[in-house]
Amino acid sequence: MLSEASSSFPTWHSGSATTTSCVTPSAAGKGWISPRLALAVFLAVLLLAPLVLPEFYVTLLNYVGLSALVALGLVLLTGVGGLTSFGQAAFVGLGAYTTAWLTTSTELPSWLAFAAGSPWVALLLGLVITAAIALFLGSVTLKLSGHYLPLGTMAWGISLFFLFGNMEFLGGHSGISSLPSIQVLGFELADNRHYYYLVWVFVLAALFTTKNLLDSREGRAIRALKGGVVMAEAMGVNTSRARMVIFLFAALQACAAGWLYAHLQRFVNPTPFGLNIGIEYLFMAVVGGAGQVWGALVGAGVITVLKQWLQDILPKLFGSAGQFEVIVFGLLMIVVLHKAREGLWPLLARLVPVKRDNKVIDPKAEPLPKKPQPPHGEVILEAKAVTRKFGGLVANNNMSLHVEAGEILALIGPNGAGKSTMFNCISAVNPASEGKIEFLGESTAAMVSRDIARRGMSRTFQHVRLLGQMSVIENVAIGAHLRGSKGVIAAALRLDRVEENRLLAEAARQIARVGLAEHMFDPAGSLALGQQRIVEIARALASDPCLLLLDEPAAGLRYQEKQALAELLRKLRAEGMGILLVEHDMDFVMGLADRVVVMEFGEKIAEGLPEQVQQNPKVLEAYLGGVE
Ligand code: ADP
Ligand code: MG
Repeated sequence: MLSEASSSFPTWHSGSATTTSCVTPSAAGKGWISPRLALAVFLAVLLLAPLVLPEFYVTLLNYVGLSALVALGLVLLTGVGGLTSFGQAAFVGLGAYTTAWLTTSTELPSWLAFAAGSPWVALLLGLVITAAIALFLGSVTLKLSGHYLPLGTMAWGISLFFLFGNMEFLGGHSGISSLPSIQVLGFELADNRHYYYLVWVFVLAALFTTKNLLDSREGRAIRALKGGVVMAEAMGVNTSRARMVIFLFAALQACAAGWLYAHLQRFVNPTPFGLNIGIEYLFMAVVGGAGQVWGALVGAGVITVLKQWLQDILPKLFGSAGQFEVIVFGLLMIVVLHKAREGLWPLLARLVPVKRDNKVIDPKAEPLPKKPQPPHGEVILEAKAVTRKFGGLVANNNMSLHVEAGEILALIGPNGAGKSTMFNCISAVNPASEGKIEFLGESTAAMVSRDIARRGMSRTFQHVRLLGQMSVIENVAIGAHLRGSKGVIAAALRLDRVEENRLLAEAARQIARVGLAEHMFDPAGSLALGQQRIVEIARALASDPCLLLLDEPAAGLRYQEKQALAELLRKLRAEGMGILLVEHDMDFVMGLADRVVVMEFGEKIAEGLPEQVQQNPKVLEAYLGGVE
């Protein structure tokens, strides 16, 4: 089977929120360009630019780089993670002010004496301070949903801005001047051309660590934040943590940009760290293409150059000074939102056809370890008197059932009977109001869905919850999240490849097992709905569960596909897995289930062997009197 699984797939999926293609204007042309070549050209242009460009443009590129560093954080935070922040300029200010104060103050407290005068120590301390403040701000604002989060970021963006301006020791509104230049290995960065290289080393480092992070186990969790939180939690992902990770990542990048900025200018005051600049950074990310790392570069380039140009030209047109560029940016934003939702990058990328990097799944990757399965016949799930109310509606009333290892229990009943609600209670996706649920002998009362997933329960959803733009294999790999352990730093530095190969090989194995090998690299959203349900089964299987909850898995499948699914479920049962199955197709259910529980109006009306249940008058009435 694995030979099927070992085809190649794009490293950075075109349909996903991010793309690997890297293009520079100078690489424009017809035909397919390898990504390596495109990258090499980009790097060569970056390297040579300051040698040939006049000073003015080098300076401009320095500012493009600084903005790109901040916008890159917003790509991760806002574009990929869906968390809108207007407050990034404040983190830039933290980096700038920390180094300004530490490298110029003559009145540092004695315990800070070690940091005096050294920009590099100041960078380190700036990052630590920013991390601490971001952790605090993140813990109070990231829980906010909808428009409250952006409002929250505005609030702290404004607060920090005023703090910078009102702190006596930070020079108030006039700021701090005479910052020292930075030394790199004893070499003094004396002019803009020198700084150029330092700035762009930072940008490239941020670019590649961000790209690496997104293309990893943690990255899949991050990419699930936008629209897949419930699913990700049910697969064992700690989504609050993933949010905090990108918030920190973005804040630290902004802080580094502030540090560079301060030493480039040799001067800081509060102006560049205000809310309006925070909005400008968000502009950059959105205009460039907030879903993709290269969008940050494009956005920073376009906005910085445009701003410079407009500041030159508009006063001449209108005959007076004034921030007219803000109006133009506003209009530009409206045009982009109307005409190019995804920003400029996808449009540019289309002009230069860069071949996607193909990565081969390693069929020889060592299989992931499996949990020991409970012995055949052991009760693994026991739900007693479960009640779930939604306001006045009792969706589950005094429901009890149990599932043994190595059996298929079918839960049937008319639409609206409360089957999916029962699934949500059992998997703690939407916990019970009353009653007791034990999984593997442990009460799940205090558990959230990811705790239960960790213990070996996995599920599919009646309303498919896939990340439609991500490939099938990446969706399935989210199921294997808990079977890996490599964290953010390992991912950013690409030290996670052995584990990543094992995770992807496992995902490929499960996809082949459910018969979708040929769709492995297609965007999940491009599959027929019935197939998407099967992808959900593969994702659940990738977690190595001992109990599988399947909510209407056969809906939308053709006859043959149903047969194949039944065959797979029989095999899983024979391997000792417990399966709780909700399904409307009675032929499918009765031919497969060991026992059946029937629900109506939230209550259990019958339980027994399939043939007993089929004869039960209450059941017949429920079905004849009720639903199609
Ligand atoms: P089934 O899966 O058997 O078709 P459900 O469990 O989806 O039934 O729904 C049972 C009842 O609970 C329905 O009347 C439904 O409208 C209601 N219900 C389900 N989820 C919610 C919710 N989150 N909020 C309010 N009512 C809900
Ligand atoms: Mg349902």
